[in-house]
Amino acid sequence: MDDMPLLQQARKKFKNNQAEDALLLCRKFVEKIAYRNREKLHGELLLSEIQIALGKTKESLASLERGVALFSISTLPDDKLQVLSTLSYRNNDLGLYQQAAKNWLKVGEYSAEVGSVDFFIQALLGIGSLLEIVEEHAAALNFFNQAELLCTKSNSDLTLTRLYFHIVSCYLSLKKYNKAQKYLTFCRENDALSMVFEFEASMFLYQAKIYRKQGQVKKALNEIYRGLEVAKKGLEAWTHSMLKLELGNCLIADKQASKAVELLIGANLNIRGLGLDFIEQKFNETLSNAYAQLGKFTEALVCEKVAHSIVLNLIVKIPVGKLECDYFSSLSKQQRLLLIQHTKIENKVLKDQAEDHHEIVERLQHDVFTDPLTEVYNRRWLDDELNSKTEDYALLMIDADHFKTVNDDFSHQIGDHVLKRLATILSSEIRPVDSVTRFGGEEFVIILCETNYQQVQALAERIRSAVEIAYWSDLLPGRPLTISLGGAIKCSGELGTLGELGEQLLKRADSALYEAKRQGRNCFVLQKCNE
Ligand code: GH3
Ligand code: MG
Ligand code: MG
Repeated sequence: MDDMPLLQQARKKFKNNQAEDALLLCRKFVEKIAYRNREKLHGELLLSEIQIALGKTKESLASLERGVALFSISTLPDDKLQVLSTLSYRNNDLGLYQQAAKNWLKVGEYSAEVGSVDFFIQALLGIGSLLEIVEEHAAALNFFNQAELLCTKSNSDLTLTRLYFHIVSCYLSLKKYNKAQKYLTFCRENDALSMVFEFEASMFLYQAKIYRKQGQVKKALNEIYRGLEVAKKGLEAWTHSMLKLELGNCLIADKQASKAVELLIGANLNIRGLGLDFIEQKFNETLSNAYAQLGKFTEALVCEKVAHSIVLNLIVKIPVGKLECDYFSSLSKQQRLLLIQHTKIENKVLKDQAEDHHEIVERLQHDVFTDPLTEVYNRRWLDDELNSKTEDYALLMIDADHFKTVNDDFSHQIGDHVLKRLATILSSEIRPVDSVTRFGGEEFVIILCETNYQQVQALAERIRSAVEIAYWSDLLPGRPLTISLGGAIKCSGELGTLGELGEQLLKRADSALYEAKRQGRNCFVLQKCNE
């Protein structure tokens, strides 16, 4: 996605409220530039978002349907779910409830298959919302309760907050105000609340409803005014309308029916043509109540009739029985599948985490025991090794001759390169069973798994000569590099004792090295046991 500049530009324009420009760019992208299916799919998705913002609801639906037509085996599950769920929302907004239900079922089935908890919850919420539209709150609550069972598996605060608001709304309709208040508190405690205006406004909306139903009208009005403040920052038509509707209800409860009528008539016009029949029905119902309070019974009756005809229409469009039974049992089955999938995914995540952890520990261990310049073992490793070694062995203490002049005559950097190469030569001359440690500065220690005098002598000589004849002239033109070596073979202890300590052996190798230096350097001196 990141290498699609045009789409990015469109997204940016859209974000900056330049929807018309965004539309042009996005259309150009989809029609002329997008080449792969995935690019086209993302283009159509954005296009549909822009179109809905511009009130082009039908075009928006068409974009999504083109998106669905692009699905193939290689479409990513999240892309597919995103398009399908957006399509379901759009169907819903356009009053195409049966299509919405079918698409939500698809979202449910597919998300269960791929183990996506959040999309599955969205599917349950989608179908539950359809039942809410036709006032089947208890049936809707069944779907929401199912979704609640998945809460601990979801990582999305957005999904959870949306779910809790739905539950609040159900309990309110079922007149269970304490429960509604309890779930509203869950919403309030969620971080998503402060991030999404829609949620912030819904918080005030539902709190107002609870207060009003409990007869605390002034408090309810206060909440609604706060919600309408949020609305100034921009809200979806649905939330905005619900706030105004609730304001109407509060005004009626506060015996200000004429103000309510004025408000509702204005607001009702705003939602006409948006396909929000549910809201239109609610407006007419509330308006009818307002007229009734004013004694205008003819008008009240007219509104009542409009509301009623919308309800009849909705009932025809929303197949309650089918949703309640077939869809519910199908999704419950899918939910079990989802949980199995999810456990598999969780196990895989845990396994990956364990592997990562293992790798980190290994790397740390390597770092702790390695000299960063030469990549051979460091002093810490040597101390550990010598302390834990029980078998017999020999030590070679090695020191570069006249190394100070390397630094002085060339540079410290060249000196470093020389040390690195020296370590490489030492490592390649030893046997796999032996090991090289940088003891410090230009000194190295080699542990030899060998206690035979002649063998140690031969190995030390081989190493000395390898350094002497190695290629140094690129780093040190006109100057040789040699090493002096001091060796010591571990003395076996008497039966039942531990034998000589590593520390003592090091000391003996060091004094042998001193002797080698004294003898003129570039040579090996071996101290025998007890010498
Ligand atoms: P000798 O033959 O007696 O060992 O003479 P020498 O010059 O090698 O001995 P001395 O101990 O006087 O000097 C060791 C030098 O090694 C001094 C120090 O600057 C250099 N040295 C130690 N560690 C490093 C290092 O990590 N990088 C570089 N470039 N030089 C180092
Ligand atoms: Mg030295
Ligand atoms: Mg030296």
